[in-house]
Amino acid sequence: MVQVQVPFRSRYTPPPPTRWDAWERRHSPLGPYPGPNRRKGGGRLVLASNRLPVTLTPKPDGRWQSSPASGGLVSALWPILSRRGGVWTGWTGAPGAGQAELDGALESLPGGDRCRLQAVALTEEEVESYYGGFSNQVLWPLFHGFSHLCRPAPHFWESYRRVNARFADSLTACLRWDDLIWVQDYHLILLGKELRERGLDHRMVYFLHIPFPPLELLERIPGHRELVEGLLHFDLVGFQTIRDREHFLDAARQLFPESFPPESGIPDPVLDGRQILTGIFPISIDFQGYSGDAHGSVVLALEQAIRNQARGRTLLLGVDRLDYTKGIPEKLKGLDLALERWPELRGSVVLKQLVVPSRDTVPAYRDAKAEIEERVDALNRRWGTADWVPVEYRYESWTRAELLAHYRAADAALVTPLNDGMNLVAKEYVAANAGSGVLILSVFAGTAGELGESALLVNPSESDSVAAAIRQAHVMAPEERRARMDQARNQIRSHDVHRWVKHFLEAGIRIR
Ligand code: UDP
Repeated sequence: MVQVQVPFRSRYTPPPPTRWDAWERRHSPLGPYPGPNRRKGGGRLVLASNRLPVTLTPKPDGRWQSSPASGGLVSALWPILSRRGGVWTGWTGAPGAGQAELDGALESLPGGDRCRLQAVALTEEEVESYYGGFSNQVLWPLFHGFSHLCRPAPHFWESYRRVNARFADSLTACLRWDDLIWVQDYHLILLGKELRERGLDHRMVYFLHIPFPPLELLERIPGHRELVEGLLHFDLVGFQTIRDREHFLDAARQLFPESFPPESGIPDPVLDGRQILTGIFPISIDFQGYSGDAHGSVVLALEQAIRNQARGRTLLLGVDRLDYTKGIPEKLKGLDLALERWPELRGSVVLKQLVVPSRDTVPAYRDAKAEIEERVDALNRRWGTADWVPVEYRYESWTRAELLAHYRAADAALVTPLNDGMNLVAKEYVAANAGSGVLILSVFAGTAGELGESALLVNPSESDSVAAAIRQAHVMAPEERRARMDQARNQIRSHDVHRWVKHFLEAGIRIR
């Protein structure tokens, strides 16, 4: 049997100590802040993200009806927002939908009267250049290591700056002095700087959901210096993995050596006399939510239907948003090789691959879709028989119940991104499966740091490695499957999204 090479640490390494770790050890859970700014950041939570947590549905009169969105981050942040009170600012996601459509969106939620959604209106041109352009055709590919797919048109950068400034104006208008400002993700890297330029001395924290690239990649785009400098205006900058934090610190050290005075004694930078802290906070999921909902009667009925359809074959599952980072062609190559190498797999395994439509106006995504569909066709033509289609491909979205039912029914999940900040599908599979499913996981998913021991780790670019893992999952003994899944579940149960929010905010409140 081919051995799977594991070119990666397989044990989760806790973040290296920083100053807030020391504070946390002494004062956890939330003790009194030891510094002079005790109340700073102790007030409301003010969130900024590209999109507001709302779902908009068209009304017959052509306007929009908004309701709160569901999703891991929203459900994790809502209890804190509603307890402390707060504001969430972002784009509505629909051209033409603004503040008026948001009124009442939170009314149905407990504590909704203490929170406010604040819309940042974007023109169609800005959606195209700030969101579709700089965010998704420059930052996204570059930060994931796909610099050859970067399309940096000059007006993209200008638009990105302008929209970050617009967010700053929108926030400044509604802040109180003791608010804690939490900025999310790559769309708003310049927001901290914009706020400081407006004279704000608030506690501001930032979390990057995607990987941070090495400087030699970052340097290829306009504005790279400003992006790194932008992050230095936050008090706390959080990353998914040790590698991302190292890349950031290395870039900051090379571009702004004066921010790393040797006497500070810690690896983190200083700007304008303000100590910036960096930390590693692997994002997670609502484990209890996924695990509990997976026992619902609708889910169980759907699971049975999916199993019946598989007719006793080993069901492999792929759930990926359409994206070139997700390694879907590589997954298909691995399956192709497995079928070639082990004839007993033919007719015995089936891959159900969901591709969730995404960013379909960006040319690279249309190309990615065409490549996936060509490969699925080729594989099915090569191996399919009258009563067996090796790959069942779906280009659609599933309801939560459908997703959970597939997680439960799948004998193995194939999560093979070429680079991924975290990958929540891997964690959701573990939470919902509860049985003896096997997780086949790319070493390049942030999740590998936590699930590396319980999963079968693969390098998606090496078809040998993917093929061997498929075979291993197919023949794995029930006891080993169960032991691996139990270990994975324990990890995610004890490191869920609620713990993530708590740790991040504790670190954010204690800084300075
Ligand atoms: N998902 C979804 N609709 C679907 C299938 C999946 O909304 O039809 C969700 C899935 O539950 C997961 C998210 O999409 O929470 C994907 O997150 P992940 O971190 O795996 O990748 P991302 O899309 O953020 O790059």
